[in-house]
Amino acid sequence: MIDPQVKQRLVEIVGENWVLDQPEELVAYSYDSTPMYQELPDIVVLPKTTEEVAKVMKIAYENNIPVVPRGSATNLSGGTVPLKGGLVLALNRMNQILEIDEENLTATVQPGVITQELHQAVEAKGLFYPPDPGSLRISTIGGNIAENAGGLRGLKYGVTKDYVIALEAVLPNGDILHTGGKLAKDVAGYDLTKLLIGSEGTLAVITKATLKLLPLPETKRTMLAIFKDLTDAARAVSKIIANKIIPVTLEFMDNATINVVEDYVKIGLPRDVEAILLMEQDGSKDQVDRDIEKMAEICRQEQAVSVQVANTAKEAEQLMTARRMALSALARLKPTTILEDATVPRSQLAPMVETIKNVAKKYNLMICTFGHAGDGNLHPTCLTDVRNTDEIKRVEKAFDEIYEKTIELGGTITGEHGVGIAKAGYLEWKVGQSGIEVMKGIKKAFDPKGILNPGKLFTDQPRKRVVIQS
Ligand SMILES: Cc1cc2nc3c(=O)[nH]c(=O)nc-3n(C[C@H](O)[C@H](O)[C@H](O)COP(=O)(O)OP(=O)(O)OC[C@H]3O[C@@H](n4cnc5c(N)ncnc54)[C@H](O)[C@@H]3O)c2cc1C
Repeated sequence: MIDPQVKQRLVEIVGENWVLDQPEELVAYSYDSTPMYQELPDIVVLPKTTEEVAKVMKIAYENNIPVVPRGSATNLSGGTVPLKGGLVLALNRMNQILEIDEENLTATVQPGVITQELHQAVEAKGLFYPPDPGSLRISTIGGNIAENAGGLRGLKYGVTKDYVIALEAVLPNGDILHTGGKLAKDVAGYDLTKLLIGSEGTLAVITKATLKLLPLPETKRTMLAIFKDLTDAARAVSKIIANKIIPVTLEFMDNATINVVEDYVKIGLPRDVEAILLMEQDGSKDQVDRDIEKMAEICRQEQAVSVQVANTAKEAEQLMTARRMALSALARLKPTTILEDATVPRSQLAPMVETIKNVAKKYNLMICTFGHAGDGNLHPTCLTDVRNTDEIKRVEKAFDEIYEKTIELGGTITGEHGVGIAKAGYLEWKVGQSGIEVMKGIKKAFDPKGILNPGKLFTDQPRKRVVIQS
C-alpha cells in the first residue's frame, strides 16, 4: 500500500495519467512471460525522461519502496514480477531513437525502444545491429541490456553485451551515472558498462544506451539439413566450425520438437529423424556461396538424409518456418510451457541432448528441445500443467538433473534468459559460494537499502545438488 502523499508526489512528477493503481491496472503488471510467478505491485509509474526516473527513485529510496524496472515483460526468469510489491517502473514511454551516428557507427536510444524498430531504423541507413532475440518484435532495448539477451545471430556476432558501449543509468538513490562513451577504447577504471549489462534490474535503471553498429552484410543465404542420428548432427556442427566457417545462425530442433511443429504447420518435415539443423550465412556474395556450399558438403558427409539450400528469399522464409514456429507449436499443447535455458560447450551438445531425453523419460514428462546449437545454448521446453502438482514436482526434479549435468559438462544454468526468480536456486551451482558473496557485495554497493528488484538473483533456499544415477 502506497501512502497517498507519496502517490501525490509521484503524480506531480509524471502526471496523473502515468500513475496507475487501480486493481485491474495492477494485475497487468503482476506477471511476465515466465509461468508460475505472479505478485501484485502497489503502484505503476510510467516516466518519460531520465529526470523523472531520478525523481521517482529518490522518493522510493526515501520511503524504502521496492522498485521493479520493466520493459515489455517478455523475460523468461520472473525478472519483472514485483515479488515484494512496491512500484513497477515501466519504461515504455522512453521509446526514442535519439541518434544514429554514421561517422562513429553508433545508435543512442532510450530504454523503451522496441528491438525490431531499432533494427529497421539502422538497416534503412545500411547499418546493422546484430542482437536478435526471438522476442524482438516486442522486447525493449533496456530489457535486452538488463538480460544481456542473445539471439539467432549470436554465433557469429555475439550477444547484447558485445554492442553496448555507453550507458546512462539512475542509481537506487536517484543519482545519475554515466558509463563508457562513443569510444573504441576505454579502460578508465572498472568496466561499469559491462557490470550493468545482465544485471537484471537489480543495480540501476538504464535510461539511455549507446550501441555499436556494423555495416549491413551484403547478402544472406539459408539452408536446412535433416539427420537420422543426433550424434551425426552434433558432429556436423563441430566440423563446420572446425572448417573455420562461423555461420550467422546454426539452430537445432530435436525429434520431439520436429513432430510437434509438423503437427502444427504441416510443412512435410520427416517424423522419424533425430535432428534438424537450420543454418544461415551472411557476408559478401562470393563468401556466402562458398560457405553454404561447404556447409552442405559437411552435412552430407555426416550422413544428413536431406540438405536443402534456399535459392530465393521466399524459399529461405519457408525453411525458417519450422524454427520460427517451434515455440508457438509447443505452447499450444499444454496449459503451461516451461522454457529452460541449459547451455554447454558446443562440443557437449550431443551428450546434453541425450541427457534431456533420458531425464524426460525417467520422470514421464514431455520435454522438447530446440535452440542455438552453434552456441551450445539449448532450450529444453517442458509442456505441463501448473495445476498438476504431482507433475510439477517431477518437473523440478527433472530440471535439477538437467542442470546438474549441464554443470558437469562445463556449462551454465542460463545462457540468455537470466537468473531472476526462476534460476536463483541454481546460481550457486554455477558461481560457487564466493561468487555469490562477491555478487551480493556488488549489489550492496549499488543498492545499500535493497530496494531495486528485490528477491531476484539471490535466494535463501538454494536447490540441493543431486546425484545422477545412470
Ligand atoms: C517468445 C520469446 C522468445 C524469446 N527469445 C529470446 C532469445 O532468443 N534470446 C534471449 O536472450 N531472450 C529471449 N527471450 C527472453 C526475453 O525476450 C529477453 O530477456 C528480453 O531481453 C526481455 O526484454 P523486455 O523488454 O521484455 O524486458 P523485461 O522482461 O521487461 O525485463 C527483463 C529484465 O530487465 C530489467 N529491466 C527492463 N528494463 C530495464 C531498464 N531500463 N533498466 C534496468 N533494468 C531493466 C527488468 O527488471 C527485468 O529484470 C524470449 C522471450 C519470449 C517470450
